[in-house]
Order: sequence, then structure tokens, then C-alpha cells
Amino acid sequence: MNIILLGPPGAGKGTQAGFLVKERDMIQLSTGDMLREAKSSGTEMGKRVAAIMDRGELVTDEIVIGLIRERLEGDKKGGFIFDGFPRTLAQADALSELLASMGETLDAAIELQVNDEVLVGRIVGRAEEARKAGLPVRADDNEESLKIRLMEYYKKTSPLIGYYYAKGQLRGVDGLGQMDAVKADIARILDK
Ligand code: ADP
Repeated sequence: MNIILLGPPGAGKGTQAGFLVKERDMIQLSTGDMLREAKSSGTEMGKRVAAIMDRGELVTDEIVIGLIRERLEGDKKGGFIFDGFPRTLAQADALSELLASMGETLDAAIELQVNDEVLVGRIVGRAEEARKAGLPVRADDNEESLKIRLMEYYKKTSPLIGYYYAKGQLRGVDGLGQMDAVKADIARILDK
């Protein structure tokens, strides 16, 4: 079973992906995590993407498609959860080609539906909590970058909702519920 978790920043994609990894032995492919790793490891690519990510803009399709391609080569376990990828129509087309070339299919694109006020609150709250606990705060968890991340989402990523709807693969869940309620909604989709 291979799924995409779709939704704006702060919608809870990473949290839900974490549950699926634990309970269904799925593999989480988060391009955000991969890029942050590259950034902190100081590779050439990491250096190239650092400023773009900190501003809240999307990095190039070429880079993220390359990252995903590499990770698809290993063990498939319970299937892949694409978290934060695809984020553009070109990435969506590339993913569909990659899966087809492996003889795999996409089972669902699950949209976590939330509203912007909640998102901003969640992200600002996440940064506050980290700061209080003395943990590192993401460089893009500030209001200015957040505005850009939201705008990038609406301009470039939200068209994917129509794209997957037209393919018959879109499933919406209410992302505003409690974590467990969202989790249960996702489980119902996967167990159908
Ligand atoms: P968010 O919390 O905004 O969902 P992510 O951790 O998924 O954040 O991504 C953080 C940043 O990494 C994005 O703002 C963008 O700069 C970059 N990024 C992650 N995934 C992609 C992608 N699929 N395409 C382009 N850029 C990406």
C-alpha cells in the first residue's frame, strides 16, 4: 500500500506518518526531513537548498525527485508514505512514473484538511514549545517564512487536490480533530 499525505504546512502530515510507520510497518519518505538532513550534513546540495528552505520557498523539482528516486530502491516493507512530496504537478507526474516503473501503484492521496488560522497557531506554538524546552527551532518556523510556505502551498501544491481527485485517488480527512480521530479516519481509508 502506497499513500501520499497531502496538506499545508502544520496540517499534521509528519505526526500521522509517524503512526503509520509504527503500526503498519510502512516507510515514511519525507522530503522535508531529507532536505534538512542534507542541510545539516553540509553537502553541496545541502548548501544549495539551505537559504531557499529557510525562506520557506520550494526547492527545485529535480532535487526532490532525485531524493525520492534514491529511496524507492530499498525494501518496500508495508509500503511507502509520501510526506511532503509531491508538492508540484511535475513532482506528481514524476512520482506516478517512478511507481509505474517499479510495478507499484498509488493507493490514495489523503488530504488533511485544516484552516489557515489553526496552521499558523500550530506552527508558532511548535516553535514556542521548542524554544522553552531549549530544543532547536526550525529556521522556517517564523511568521515571515510561514507566510511564504502557505503561499507556496496554495500556488503550487493545492492544484494536486484536483489532480488526484480527477484520478479518483483523493481522500479527504478532517485534520482539525484530535490526533487519534485523524488517525482513525486514515485507518478507515487504508482498511477499505
Ligand atoms: P512543512 O512543515 O512546511 O510541511 P516540510 O518539512 O515538509 O515542511 O518541508 C520543509 C521545506 O523543505 C519546504 O518549505 C521546502 O523548502 C522544502 N521541501 C520539502 N519537500 C519539498 C518538495 N517536495 N518540493 C520542494 N521543496 C520541498
